[in-house]
Amino acid sequence: MTELKKAAEPPEIFESFSGARRLGFLTMKALKDQGRGVAGTFCSYVPVELFMAAGVVYVGLCSGSEETIPDAETVLPRNICPLIKASYGYALTGKCPYMYFSDLVVGETTCDGKIKMYEHLGEIKDVYVMELPKTRRDDKGASFWLSEIHLLKQKIEEKFAVKITDENLRLAIRARNQERALLKELYELSVLDPPPVTGLQQLQILYGSQFKFDHEEKIKELRAAVDGIKAEYERGSRPVPPGAKRIVLTGCPIGGATEKVVRVIEEAGGVVVVYENCTGAKQYDRQVCEEGDPYKALCDYYLNIGCSVMSPNPARLELLGRLCDQFSACAVIEMTLQSCHTYQIETRTVRRFLKERGTPFLSLETDYSAGDVQQLKTRTGAFIEML
Ligand code: SF4
Ligand code: SF4
Repeated sequence: MTELKKAAEPPEIFESFSGARRLGFLTMKALKDQGRGVAGTFCSYVPVELFMAAGVVYVGLCSGSEETIPDAETVLPRNICPLIKASYGYALTGKCPYMYFSDLVVGETTCDGKIKMYEHLGEIKDVYVMELPKTRRDDKGASFWLSEIHLLKQKIEEKFAVKITDENLRLAIRARNQERALLKELYELSVLDPPPVTGLQQLQILYGSQFKFDHEEKIKELRAAVDGIKAEYERGSRPVPPGAKRIVLTGCPIGGATEKVVRVIEEAGGVVVVYENCTGAKQYDRQVCEEGDPYKALCDYYLNIGCSVMSPNPARLELLGRLCDQFSACAVIEMTLQSCHTYQIETRTVRRFLKERGTPFLSLETDYSAGDVQQLKTRTGAFIEML
């Protein structure tokens, strides 16, 4: 078993990203004090370019901590996904500054638990829900989603008393594409064998970057991080020993408490080379088209996100297969959150797809507590040992 070496990297490359969520609270307060509007979101389907074009600061509100789950369970049932309970709990208790500062919360009709939670959240915050079609099978879904994007534009204009021009929207698309390209460049560094970063280090940057609110500054920091990692590798830094089993991680979004899954994999002699889920490639693999009607371009991009809430969902399998080849994966590990029906039902499809390719697969179900770490270690350790 080849355990990863402890932090062989210069800490400054990762420092500014590792505490970004906490440090971002102060930046957000300063922006509010300057009179900037803030919108909170829960899902990769929400076209954030509209906020950028309106000059509205946006932030992801998905909670990754169990801290407020007991409070949430005074309103919501216990047997639903921890992400839904924890996110609602933060609104209920006022413990998340990002939720507190959000003038508008934009939800989406992805899964039933979230849809119903938004009704209760609407009693605490100004909530606007985008209606997401559940299939890409025909053009009906696309024209419906296009109209939903136009309706969100109207809502933002009314709420924040701004005008979103086509020109500003095109600039926003370009800016967000630039960020996507850099984050993709970052994770593609792990095509190298051995990879120049551990999965946890890669995750620090992917997760932390969403809490950087100055776009220009973020681009500079990401560029410096990518260049710094490359330079360290060229100088001989090897945080991952040769022979670590190369793992593609898929499933529900990772971050906060669910980092435990990455830790368990890497302590068992694996290394996460790429995240297929919303924390990684699902969001950054593709670009929004910069030509033609910007609304149509947003519609095409967002509707093709390969999330299990779509039926059928071939986009996830296409991306997964491509990442396995590109990153020379030894195996795929899936992380699903408890009671996430869409991902858990789709597990069978993913398992079958990977079996046909000859790629070993392990599915792990977890929540935000630390109670199952030993069990995760046992299952993951046995799986990696067998590779
Ligand atoms: S996994 Fe699906 S529902 Fe969850 S954030 Fe990603 S796209 Fe949205
Ligand atoms: S993890 Fe699954 S159940 Fe939880 S909010 Fe996302 S799609 Fe819904």
